[in-house]
Amino acid sequence: MEVRKISIVIPVYNEEENIEKLYEELKEVLENLKLDYEIIFVNDGSTDRTPQILDELAKRDPKVKVVHFRKNYGQTAAMYAGFQYAEGDVVITMDGDLQNDPHDIPKLLEKIEEGYDIVSGWRKNRQDPFLSRILPSKIANWIISKVTGVHLHDYGCTLKAYRKEVAKNFRLYGDMHRFLPAVAKSFGAKITEVVVNHRPRLYGKSKYGIGRTIRVILDIFLVKFLNDYLNKPLYVFGSVGLTLMGLGFLIMLYLSIEKIFFGASIGGRPLLILGVLLFLSGLQLLSTGIVAEVVIRTYYESKHDVPFKVERLVNFDQKVEEKI
Ligand code: UDP
Ligand code: MG
Repeated sequence: MEVRKISIVIPVYNEEENIEKLYEELKEVLENLKLDYEIIFVNDGSTDRTPQILDELAKRDPKVKVVHFRKNYGQTAAMYAGFQYAEGDVVITMDGDLQNDPHDIPKLLEKIEEGYDIVSGWRKNRQDPFLSRILPSKIANWIISKVTGVHLHDYGCTLKAYRKEVAKNFRLYGDMHRFLPAVAKSFGAKITEVVVNHRPRLYGKSKYGIGRTIRVILDIFLVKFLNDYLNKPLYVFGSVGLTLMGLGFLIMLYLSIEKIFFGASIGGRPLLILGVLLFLSGLQLLSTGIVAEVVIRTYYESKHDVPFKVERLVNFDQKVEEKI
């Protein structure tokens, strides 16, 4: 694929000490690439001097574009906005705190030119605190890799390159940016990773604490569900529901036989409670599954979306192609 223009997307939230240095480094790398480019800063509701610094840069350099958010919406929303406004054939996201190294950009581009849709950075030599950052992230990476079936070493690295078609396809919510490769896999993207440089944060503070671990875990469930079961929720809820109902039924059958044929008193048996509980919760899950199916169908139809992405059409009328 021929890359003519690249868009760099940088979410920034209170990064006043980092922006100018980052801009200088980026500029040097980008000028050497001999490609058209734009640098999109998304100011995620900063309360320090970030907005003024960005406006100043944009005045000096027309290649710098700024999206100012009204308030702090979070890094995912900032990246989403960047994807929407980007005009390049390739979109490259990176952190605004100088932890990612702009000199890695040519490496990412090379892989895109080889034909990959997403190239993800791998901070092999990560410069962050071990206990609060590296360890939880290692565990999370292992789980995400197992659950999603996309095998990367480092999902959390913001430095990634996306082919435009992929970037424009994303609908992002919550804290989803970490899972973009997994989300993209659901529409068939080709993904790879390259080792990138990582540097310690010299100025400003990290915007996240250990609390993000819980959100990452919840997101893993969501991504798995969205990827594999979004158009068949009944299979998830229904199979668990049926299993519980079956167990409950067996227990109650056993108790009924004891009662009817052997005259045993079953009123005070804990097993009775367990049986009823299993049966009822199973029934609940089953009906949740059916409700979820109905909701999903409404969801697709209201979006005028289809639960598939077409890679290529042959010999169809132009009009048909435009409709899908
Ligand atoms: N960021 C943002 N909005 C937020 C939190 C963070 O735009 O609500 C930006 C932040 O300015 C930085 C990047 O996202 O450019 C990564 O944040 P940070 O360096 O704090 O994360 P860490 O490297 O500690 O994981
Ligand atoms: Mg950082």
